Amino acid sequence: MAYAPVIRPGRLPTSIDDAGDVAEPDRPAEAARFDAAASAVATRLRDRAAHATGAASEVLAATATLAQDRAWLAAAEKRIATGAPAVRAVIGAVDQFAEMFTKLGGLMAERVTDLRDIRDRVIAELNGLPEPGVPMPAAPSILCADDLAPADTAGLDPTLVVALATTLGGPTSHTAIIARQLGIPCVVAVEGLDAVEAGTMVLVDGTAGTVIVTPDSASADQAVEAARQDAERAAGWSGPGATSDGHAVAVLANVQDGAAARAARDTAAEGIGLFRTELCFLNRETEPTVDEQTDIYAEVLDAFAGHKVVVRTLDAGSDKPLKFAEHPNEANPALGVRGIRVAGINPALLDRQLEAIAAAAKRTGNPPWVMAPMIATAQEAEHFAAQVRSHGLTPGVMIEVPAAALLADRILEHVDFLSIGTNDLAQYTMAADRMSAELAALTDPWQPAVLTLVAMAARAGASVGKPVGVCGEAAADPLLACVLAGLGVTSLSAAAAAVQGVGAKLAQVSLQQCRDAADAVLAASTAAQARAAALSALE
Ligand code: PEP
Ligand code: MG
Repeated sequence: MAYAPVIRPGRLPTSIDDAGDVAEPDRPAEAARFDAAASAVATRLRDRAAHATGAASEVLAATATLAQDRAWLAAAEKRIATGAPAVRAVIGAVDQFAEMFTKLGGLMAERVTDLRDIRDRVIAELNGLPEPGVPMPAAPSILCADDLAPADTAGLDPTLVVALATTLGGPTSHTAIIARQLGIPCVVAVEGLDAVEAGTMVLVDGTAGTVIVTPDSASADQAVEAARQDAERAAGWSGPGATSDGHAVAVLANVQDGAAARAARDTAAEGIGLFRTELCFLNRETEPTVDEQTDIYAEVLDAFAGHKVVVRTLDAGSDKPLKFAEHPNEANPALGVRGIRVAGINPALLDRQLEAIAAAAKRTGNPPWVMAPMIATAQEAEHFAAQVRSHGLTPGVMIEVPAAALLADRILEHVDFLSIGTNDLAQYTMAADRMSAELAALTDPWQPAVLTLVAMAARAGASVGKPVGVCGEAAADPLLACVLAGLGVTSLSAAAAAVQGVGAKLAQVSLQQCRDAADAVLAASTAAQARAAALSALE
């Protein structure tokens, strides 16, 4: 919950400075103006890199270095020395280098986008305009935007951007997931957000998914205070995960790299329930070597030495394409070659990843459980399990496809555990794109049809005594987490920012209350009814 003024990403400067040439005596001053603007941009990027972690930090630091690259600065200064105003000089110099980088191709061509981003930032600075892209506010603010790139979201400073609201995006889009990982309340698919101007006071409730524009300020302050008290209770929770009457349900964290795993140690998470390995390589042109992968996986295993860690093999494809996975061109990538299916066209990629995971296990002495995404059949599970076992590791699969939930009993003949990915399970059960703002009501994890499939998988696990966890966003909602426990789920894995709230809520309710809530939810006809029924059973 946050109540603060709105900021908006700066727009790209549309009109360029078409002033005539600068008179000779004024040129040194124009050059100084340019140097100051370029160095202000580089400093700001470096600051943002210092505040970010993982891939976002690296991207920002590399862009900052490029902003100070002598070659293009000199090219711009040369143009100023011959009379070009600074803005025209920047455009000319960047065009010159962009053309050169494009001709060189490969990694250099990739930098053209960064170079153009720097150009826009420097031009904005020269014109006294707000920086394009995500702004760095001076005081706590709420960022409202059409949409945000995952890398931009990852670079946000949670002490300054206290909430995020977007016009586009689905509740389980990766931007929303990263925001939650940072602990930033985030509401997506907000209608009428375009009309809300910078400076307007808004109240954002990330849990209920609401944005109230210019609310009564006394009640907004009250709501923020109530949320603060909840947060205080959550902060005081010290684990391990259990209901008030002692029924254990492990509360784990979802992470995407070593830095996030180390940050998760600040919570009472008992381990890592989902390590999304593909997120380490989204910007990679080429496949990371086995050694590089080993280093990255070992960082995560080290962060939770002596604790459970579940590594997911690459979930490449759909909204997370990896350049080196050789995805075919598909009209419908969410229903295409994604997750475990990539191993069908590129089996060596999975072999090398398993080799790296096994090497990291050996190096750290913390052998992880290993699971495959997007399993649809028992045969796929059988094949994957054999591969994982041949590396001496414990195999499991994700339940994200309705077919896998329906036949969970047959899948469990081959693997040692299941982990339910409610984000994709909702997408495929409801036939609704998880990225779609229009269909967000259908991809709501409270949909009784989705929870019925969760119940089937949980029952299948219980009948053979094998663990069944949930690692989708459903596990991050404290109320729904209690319902999942009532359905028989044995562990809950959520963004680190949600761990404390989930654990604290679970500790307040009895197993019988959770079971009553689960029964009520399965009997409901709509997501809203399910939520209301759970609320009354769990209060
Ligand atoms: C899911 O689908 O619920 C899941 C955890 O995987 P991802 O969100 O990475 O697709
Ligand atoms: Mg998934």
